[in-house]
Amino acid sequence: MECDKCKAIINEEESKELHGRILCEDCYMDSLSPARMCDPWAVYSAKSLMDKNESGLEVNEIQAKILRILEETGGKEPGTIADDLERELAALRHMEKVRGALKDGKKIICLW
Ligand SMILES: [Zn+2]
Repeated sequence: MECDKCKAIINEEESKELHGRILCEDCYMDSLSPARMCDPWAVYSAKSLMDKNESGLEVNEIQAKILRILEETGGKEPGTIADDLERELAALRHMEKVRGALKDGKKIICLW
């Protein structure tokens, strides 16, 4: 007999049956644990967090960042989220990605 999936020739003792298919031992193990190769659920949930929220609307980068902070901390007071963003801004300043400047007499943050 042969494996339904990879077509390897197998003898009866080696064959496994899964959902009505005859599989060799390797394919059987693969079919039993498809998450072994990668973790599609983890990828999916991370991706869905980045791309869409539950209503299917796009989440922009800043919103995704906020979601990530909440995910990492398990929840925060609203005011402290602003502190987090402030801290990121300071870090970006330090990396010389953004800088403070004056525009029409007002202080602004702009790209370096
Ligand atoms: Zn096989």
